[in-house]
Amino acid sequence: MGLVTANIHVKGVPLRRAFVEHTDPTGLTSLGWAITDRNGSFTFDAGLFSNSVDIKIHCQNSVVQVLNAPVLSAPIDIHVSVANGGTVKVENTGHNDVLDHFRILAKCQDVYDTVWRQFRPYNDSDRGDFPLRRPAGDVKHVYNTASRVQLNYPALLQSAIPSILTFVEPDASGNHSLPLMHIQNRTIEFRVFEEDAAAHQVDPMIIPHEFGHAMHFSAVSSNTRANFEAQYIGFLATHATNAYHDVNRPTTPFVAFIEAVGIFSERFFFFKKLVRPDVEDVALRQAFFRDELDHQTLGNHLVYVPVGTRSHGRITPALTGNDTEGAIYGAIYLDFASQVGLREAVGLVLDSQATSFDEFHTYVSGRGNNAWLTALNHAKTTWRL
Ligand SMILES: [Zn+2]
Repeated sequence: MGLVTANIHVKGVPLRRAFVEHTDPTGLTSLGWAITDRNGSFTFDAGLFSNSVDIKIHCQNSVVQVLNAPVLSAPIDIHVSVANGGTVKVENTGHNDVLDHFRILAKCQDVYDTVWRQFRPYNDSDRGDFPLRRPAGDVKHVYNTASRVQLNYPALLQSAIPSILTFVEPDASGNHSLPLMHIQNRTIEFRVFEEDAAAHQVDPMIIPHEFGHAMHFSAVSSNTRANFEAQYIGFLATHATNAYHDVNRPTTPFVAFIEAVGIFSERFFFFKKLVRPDVEDVALRQAFFRDELDHQTLGNHLVYVPVGTRSHGRITPALTGNDTEGAIYGAIYLDFASQVGLREAVGLVLDSQATSFDEFHTYVSGRGNNAWLTALNHAKTTWRL
């Protein structure tokens, strides 16, 4: 028998923990399944006298399934042949119609690994590679049955109102009441891919931000998700014709609380990538809130709205009020985090099922931990929430 081990990359990025199917040359008969490792590598038995395999690379990994919106949101796979020791570069396979989908697949994985898997509930031992848990059974069974976020690209919904094409549906009926991300076409939304963002002097923040919403929504109960869905979709529908939210623009306490999660996700991701790629874990988390309060180094790298500063241990907010996204972000993910730890702060947000800062405060108060409550009250006063 001949074992074939090969790699899959997309534009230089390994396709990690993606589902790969071994097929016959027609692609019609399935011969086995594998999940790529952290290098994008997999192994199949090619059989006697063979040094290569036919494979289908599915546009699904352990965190997300990317769907092809223009063709009725169908799942995506590409069929290629690869020899032992070879590297499949998705951009060279003649499947340019779905190249962007595979790039987004890899990016969601990166945001999960860089940001979310260190925070509960995702740091539980039954999650890890699979944020929504890996079912028991073989890889084919996992591919078919695992809960995962879904992502529709390029989003086609509500094309008359392009300003709301990019959003995360918290409670999508088509995804078993789990989140479905709608990502606007790169021809309109320049913040999806690095090269488009660079050409238009904006940041490639869409996936780091929106995947943060998906992780927040995935962590709460189905009842809370339904509540988010009703409020968030209602908000998007009524605010669609305005530039409807931003770090420093007052909105509703609900939207401010939800959006603070997205701001945290995108800033933590870029902080690790652009400012401190040299640190991990607790050192990274501490470096993050300290730098955001004391130096705002991200301001040298991103289109950046400062939310507040700290000098001699005293925080001076630039933004205040529980209806302002940047104030909620500063209060919870910087100020409260600097007192109780970022892991605790993020964990409590996801534990709380809260839909506003007031509900979050009520939850923390009910936990009976005096140190947490004192810290949160301090932040509440500082940021005038
Ligand atoms: Zn958002």
